[in-house]
Amino acid sequence: MSALEEILAESLPCRTVREDKLRGRLNHCYLVLTEDDAVRSKLCRMIAKIALCPNGGCGKCDVCEKIDDGAYTALNIADKDKMSVEDVKLLIEDTFFTGFDGDLKAYVVTNMQGMNERAQNKFLKTLEEPSDGVVFVLGAQSPRSVLATIYSRCKKLNFEGFTVDQLKETLEEETPWGVARDGLDREEVIERAAACAFGSYTRAKKLASDAEFARLFALVADILLKMTDSKKLDEQLARLAPYKNDLSAVLDMTETVLGLLLSGEGGEFGAIEGLKSTFDTASVVNSLGLVASAKRKVESNCNAQSVLDALFLGILEVKYLCRR
Ligand SMILES: [Zn+2]
Repeated sequence: MSALEEILAESLPCRTVREDKLRGRLNHCYLVLTEDDAVRSKLCRMIAKIALCPNGGCGKCDVCEKIDDGAYTALNIADKDKMSVEDVKLLIEDTFFTGFDGDLKAYVVTNMQGMNERAQNKFLKTLEEPSDGVVFVLGAQSPRSVLATIYSRCKKLNFEGFTVDQLKETLEEETPWGVARDGLDREEVIERAAACAFGSYTRAKKLASDAEFARLFALVADILLKMTDSKKLDEQLARLAPYKNDLSAVLDMTETVLGLLLSGEGGEFGAIEGLKSTFDTASVVNSLGLVASAKRKVESNCNAQSVLDALFLGILEVKYLCRR
């Protein structure tokens, strides 16, 4: 098992389902909730294995071995980003088939947020009248990603995110040797990524392995730190010029950095540490509100550059107002 899998195996979602299984009280539908895409996909698979294995996911029996080899016919995994009504129809039809390994069948759908309302309504009927011996393991970014009628029928499994130490452990294993960046050696790259990932494995991986992502992170944090008056704001915003064709990445990153400030995580790292002394909680919360509305404007096709300019001016005002 990888370090990531070992940590996930002991997470609340896995422990909950293992307990249900061993007590003979398996639910017929579980909903795994986390925005961390890679983790959601992994957790859904692990939970299906726990449900199918007679020993709650021992990793040693025939069932587990077959699942690991991708050869267990009673495990069905749908991990498309988007699922159409037609996809759902095929999945439902499959639940009627008999003649598969074991006496329990599991269906995994990792991206419920990619299933539109019509498709979800179709799916709902199956959840309302489940066939015997069928377990559904659904994954979604947030409760808002699924219809309330589906949500209420599932046993919810929230994944709360990783600690900095857990992220370090997984990155230690997964980061190539010889990675060095921004004057940091491999250990320091890992440490920074883990501390700045805000509990998210996907973000930690990006920070450790995607030079562009790490550069933008540092740049946005530095701009937020250095913008002190409106006259010099243009000078700071000009630093974002290389990203003018991808301003939504800048918006996402601004949200990430502010979110990190709010959570109080982020360790002792330069940029974030400096920001803590210039933004108080109220100004972070207000700034996050401004980012959310800027994102909505960009989604509804407002000019991204002017939205971004207005956003940073707004954040600057908030930064001042709250300090007075
Ligand atoms: Zn097993």
